Amino acid sequence: QIVYVNGDYVAAEDAKVSVFDRGFLMADAVYEVTSVIGGKLVDFDGHATRLQRSMSELEMVSPVTMEDLLEIHRQLVARNDLDEGGIYLQITRGAPDSRDFVWPDPDEVKCGIVLFTFEKALVDSKVMDDGIKVISMDDIRWGRRDIKTTQLLYPSFAKMQAKKAGAADAWLVEDGFVTEGTANNAYIVKDGTIITRQLGNDILHGITRAAILRFAKEAQMQVEERPFTIEEAQAADEAFVTSATGFAQPVIDIDGATIGTGKPGSISKRLREIYTEEMTKAAI
Ligand code: PLP
Repeated sequence: QIVYVNGDYVAAEDAKVSVFDRGFLMADAVYEVTSVIGGKLVDFDGHATRLQRSMSELEMVSPVTMEDLLEIHRQLVARNDLDEGGIYLQITRGAPDSRDFVWPDPDEVKCGIVLFTFEKALVDSKVMDDGIKVISMDDIRWGRRDIKTTQLLYPSFAKMQAKKAGAADAWLVEDGFVTEGTANNAYIVKDGTIITRQLGNDILHGITRAAILRFAKEAQMQVEERPFTIEEAQAADEAFVTSATGFAQPVIDIDGATIGTGKPGSISKRLREIYTEEMTKAAI
């Protein structure tokens, strides 16, 4: 496959990044994952806007303009003949000539950038028929989860714990309330009302979340943005998670408690249908 690394399109096996790259040494990097349906980008603007915000919160200077970024995304889709899947983008604080906690001067050390594509079935997904099981885990990530950084060791650890327990994912819990999943936003549905944690520094501001809530409101569904506990979730009628490459995925079991009927709920299904249809139409 063809990847993009610091200005060049090269075969993945020929791509090189410095050992001093701060993304590699310190997870001093931000990223985005944009999904692709029918060779088109889903919500590119949403991802580009969040990327700019992540960089600005960390005082990173983008090595490319957002127009360049769109062109690189399109080039990679074309060069890899990608129909359905996603594009991973990472911007790092670059590679100074030594390892130092102090950030290098952005005029001297430019940020590094890599992108690659991956194929994944997004629209026809078996998860939708079955739903996933999740377990709860303490949320011990750092306090700026609104910045999409590559510090993913704890989410990765949590997902491994879930896997060992026979579940697909973990819902992270802080001060008694669910924050989010390891790589998705978390929702429950009770008496027709969709409940999801409000935005803040403690969760990622999901691009899919924003679209799902907009579609829910347009469809006259009730939405409450507030924290909820695992106990409340276990007693809910439905639960689901959203992410760019998962769309809306039903959750049918939390820490061994069956949610609703144990089958994907009707609101989760309906939201997934609306999301898939609208985002496919709006893809660029
Ligand atoms: N929360 C976390 C921690 C994530 O890593 C992700 C996506 O990777 C999300 C939520 C969902 O965000 P989005 O809908 O923008 O993919």
